[in-house]
Amino acid sequence: MDDTANPHTPSPEDQFPGQGETKNSSGLQYKQHPLYYFNDANLFLKARNSSFIYGVYKGLMEKFSATFEACFTLPQPAGIEEGSIFEKPILLPVDAAPLDALCSFIFHLGWKPHNHRTTDELLALGKISQLLQCPDALKFTIQALKFRTFDFNKARKLFYAFKFGVPNWGYSATAEILTSVNGVGSITGGFTIDMEIHKLLLEGESNLALQIQLLAREMPNLNNNATWSQCPQRDWCMKTLIRDWETVCPAIAQTRGGIRQVKILVKEKVENDHSFALMRRECREVLCERVSQVIENIETFVNRAAGERVKARIKRDYPSAHDDEGWAI
Ligand SMILES: [Zn+2]
Repeated sequence: MDDTANPHTPSPEDQFPGQGETKNSSGLQYKQHPLYYFNDANLFLKARNSSFIYGVYKGLMEKFSATFEACFTLPQPAGIEEGSIFEKPILLPVDAAPLDALCSFIFHLGWKPHNHRTTDELLALGKISQLLQCPDALKFTIQALKFRTFDFNKARKLFYAFKFGVPNWGYSATAEILTSVNGVGSITGGFTIDMEIHKLLLEGESNLALQIQLLAREMPNLNNNATWSQCPQRDWCMKTLIRDWETVCPAIAQTRGGIRQVKILVKEKVENDHSFALMRRECREVLCERVSQVIENIETFVNRAAGERVKARIKRDYPSAHDDEGWAI
């Protein structure tokens, strides 16, 4: 983000008026941006990795961006004001791609509806919106990302929940991480998660592990189920359950990779272990159904508790957080 080392940063010599060249001090030829250059422009911008000059409007940029607004109220040094002529653009510490995305938002030129933009494009727009403090563009980004569940979830979503200040993303990403096969271990490089949040996630994960142990120890009580309690061979089914649950317990206790695995494991055992075959089919179904219900309840409870804490943490850090429609909350 530091552009002081940029060779195109104007030197004091550049400030002498009347140098009507289209070459800057490094001899690089500036060109008008093919799309975002207006003939009556009064503000000239340049991205760090392109020689295109964006010829736009000061008043408009001020309205969209609090950063520009603050910039223009600062006293300017003597000489030609930076950004006021083509030859002396403001060098923005951003790449051309996000600047194009922001210009397309502001001018609706080269406009793409959100469903024609990739998640990366949206995130780039969000980042530049945040850097240049453009609340409307950030709102558009947050709203559009709502529909990206495929490539915007878990650790990535949690990371941006903090970056853009969206507590609800933190809530849903927590559940996505805790229910994923690798759990908190699935958070890998690239997405730095705050230590405190990492701790909250690990707590959620160990709560789930604890619940799995409790579940393994306790035989499901099916007495309140009509099919089970009115079974013509109830005693036989009960005896089978008592005996066979003993064999299921250790397997449950050793389950790794998300509590949902327990559901799969029990179903597999009950359906395929020949000892369970002594239980009536309807009663076996009741057993599987009950186990999956208990697991869903545990999952919902733990995810909700961890999610709420992550959400509260984001709200605490962000006095001006957004809801998932992008509105300030
Ligand atoms: Zn039965």
